[in-house]
Amino acid sequence: MNLHEYQGKELLSKYGVKIQRGIVARTPQQAVEAAKELTRETGTQWHVVKAQIHAGGRGKGGGVKLAKSLDEVEQRANQIIGMQLVTPQTPPEGKKVHQVLIAEDVYYPGESETQEFYMSVLLNRATGRNMIMYSPEGGMDIEEVAETMPDKIFTEEIDPAFGVQGFQARKIAFNLGLSGQAFKEMVKFVHALYNAYIGSDASMFEINPVLKTSDNQIMAVDSKVTLDGNGLFRHKDLAELRDVREEDATEVEAGAAGLNFVKLDGNVGCMVNGAGLAMATMDMIKQSGGSPANFLDVGGTADAERVEKAFRIILKDENVDAILVNIFGGIVRCDRVAQGVIDAYKNMGDAIKVPIIVRLQGTNAEEAKKMIDESGLKVHSAITLEEAAKKVEEVLS
Ligand code: GDP
Ligand code: MN
Repeated sequence: MNLHEYQGKELLSKYGVKIQRGIVARTPQQAVEAAKELTRETGTQWHVVKAQIHAGGRGKGGGVKLAKSLDEVEQRANQIIGMQLVTPQTPPEGKKVHQVLIAEDVYYPGESETQEFYMSVLLNRATGRNMIMYSPEGGMDIEEVAETMPDKIFTEEIDPAFGVQGFQARKIAFNLGLSGQAFKEMVKFVHALYNAYIGSDASMFEINPVLKTSDNQIMAVDSKVTLDGNGLFRHKDLAELRDVREEDATEVEAGAAGLNFVKLDGNVGCMVNGAGLAMATMDMIKQSGGSPANFLDVGGTADAERVEKAFRIILKDENVDAILVNIFGGIVRCDRVAQGVIDAYKNMGDAIKVPIIVRLQGTNAEEAKKMIDESGLKVHSAITLEEAAKKVEEVLS
């Protein structure tokens, strides 16, 4: 589950990470009030208006703008709220901006230069450890840094049993070229950031840029946080931060029905039980000359209600020319699934206009095939994978 920048920053702040202060606003009027409030709290004269969407690269797309007066705050907020923001990380049509973060300007002039760094904490699956990745080349696209200046990206492996050791935090501050007050602040920053990552069961925290201000503070100017969905049951407060407007509507609906669904852009809808079988089914569709319209794992209990819900979700996609149901009857018997398909089909009446191929294998497969063949419905049945593949090929040609 992804968080918005402002939510990520609140979380960081709770763990003692210094952040660029900000207040979220949903209207230009709220933006002006937020700016006034920030000026009272921090003394800042300038503000930054930042679009809150689940995608990075907002600056490049025109979603982050500096405002030098309250009038400008209002104008910028007016431009950004409601806009369809396109960045290198959004779909081509962009994402609608529902709210902006009004933040204090932290790039003020002072005794030394400001500096932008990159820092992320993530899980290294290969080593089974957490990893802090960092670079003195912050502010810009880290993928670009990785390509053009790979020697400017450092990693520090963290043993989950011990956490960040003092020497590791100092090494990071040193490699970033810091000294004096900024060095000490960076050491604190690294510890606090790692604690936030562990404490929230996150799978990634990415802070780009981490800013050294002109008066040598180290703070998070941006935050990109991905929480581990499997850990959310331990964090009711964080689970509530979910913004479903940022997610694919059909995927959200499927999730609510207990279906594991991912939309793809092919023409054959798939309904399968088990993730491994779903992957194999998608391969099979490819080999039959089709291409999968989705990944859908209906899980262990393929009863009529679930099957119907799954059909309805698949049929929302206008690209679907055929549906392949491929269920292995292990925990759930094939005849029960067959009954589910038949009931769902009958319930849905005319809603199903594309051919359906049902392949049931496992306990009571023969009975299941018979039930479907005798149901009088326009459903093609199969027992083996080859048969099913051939039927997919036939209905597509
Ligand atoms: P992203 O483009 O989605 O990664 O959004 P960021 O939060 O990283 O902001 C983009 C850029 O806006 C940063 O790299 C900064 O250069 C700039 N920016 C952010 N905050 C401030 C600020 O307080 N003052 C000024 N002048 N620029 C800022
Ligand atoms: Mn950024």
